Amino acid sequence: MKISSILTVLALLATATCQEPAKPSQPVIRVLRCGALIHPANGQVQHNVLITVEGDRIRDVRENAGASSAGQVIDLSDHTCLPGLIDAHTHVLLQGDITAADYDEQLLKQSVAYRTILATRSVKRALEYGFTTIRDLETEGAGYADVDLKRAINRGIIPGPRMQVATRAMDVTGAYPLLGYAPEVPVPHGVQVVDGPDGGRKAVREQISYGADWIKVYSDRSYFLRQDGVLDDVPTFTLDELRAIVDETHRQRHKIASHAIALNGVHNSVEAGVDSIEHGNYIADADLKAMAQKGIYYVPTLYVGEYVAQGRAAAGARVWMDMIKIHGETFHRAVNAGVKIAFGTDVGGFDWGIDPAIEFPLMVKYGMTPAQAIRSATTTAAELLGMQNDLGSIAAGKFADIVAVKGDPLNDIGLLQQIDFVMKGGEVYKQTR
Ligand SMILES: [Zn+2]
Repeated sequence: MKISSILTVLALLATATCQEPAKPSQPVIRVLRCGALIHPANGQVQHNVLITVEGDRIRDVRENAGASSAGQVIDLSDHTCLPGLIDAHTHVLLQGDITAADYDEQLLKQSVAYRTILATRSVKRALEYGFTTIRDLETEGAGYADVDLKRAINRGIIPGPRMQVATRAMDVTGAYPLLGYAPEVPVPHGVQVVDGPDGGRKAVREQISYGADWIKVYSDRSYFLRQDGVLDDVPTFTLDELRAIVDETHRQRHKIASHAIALNGVHNSVEAGVDSIEHGNYIADADLKAMAQKGIYYVPTLYVGEYVAQGRAAAGARVWMDMIKIHGETFHRAVNAGVKIAFGTDVGGFDWGIDPAIEFPLMVKYGMTPAQAIRSATTTAAELLGMQNDLGSIAAGKFADIVAVKGDPLNDIGLLQQIDFVMKGGEVYKQTR
């Protein structure tokens, strides 16, 4: 028998013996009874609500409803329900990097395979914290492993949130760790090293071909506080390089996020027309105005700065302590300037054992109402991801991504760190009694 014939027979045998049970023709109906339901878009609250879920979508939402006629009822009558949360800035392949040594250790001593195993735990944690969707903003030296994690989640192999991924990210020669090793020792880098407009276009094409949803660039480094209180930096890419990368990304109908912490990095990114500014510890008023006009999102990541500041200051970079204060002031100015602010935390830059919802109280501390903070992690983040028709609110036709918490997060935003019910696509992933 020819090899090809043997393979055909084996394939037939495999289908005959391992066939999955036939899918039921009717999708599963589940009914949630919520004591209260928050609509983030307008901040309104409904009471005694029945949410009917059919398959992975919401079929209808009824207030002051009586008994349900159909389906399995999940009793959340002592809970407040809200749409599944969205963290628009995560690193599932990173496990905390306060100092350069922490970072180098992960890239030098852990294989990508091992890091991916750790990441399966990160995505499970994200989901259990109530984040049913994440935008993972680069793998920090783990190549395209985020594309595989996303695929495994979508195929139901491992539990995790919906993902949009950025794969490798880009920075220029000499700007991104690992740095400081002898020139004759080849070391890995946490990004794809890219120089020149043509190099940028080629990297965009390559990353998209391997599954990148987003392109990410690092636009600045080496931060220092000027006497006039402005946080200055060394820009990485030239404006020409950034413009080429942005153009190539948009030409292929993808979006681009820019890590930009200070004056020039933010300004160049806004000039080049990126879709989101990440971190933005300092943003000049003129750039905030331009962001509001152009519809560029601000993803502030307030908590991670506090988390890493002590360690980095102890290692000699005292500027990180000043950056916390400047960040809070910038956030306040951005709220007042009407910039679209999407929730993002940089978790992975801090330990995955910490619930990223710790970001919410800081957003309220620096000028948002609790309703605005919830909107940033639902409707606004869904728009940033271009998924506003599927995510970000609890309404007929949307994905059944629903979380619930005891008490009222509009009164106490800190409660979002105690999510005890999580549904994603109609499946229950967490239910604490
Ligand atoms: Zn980050």
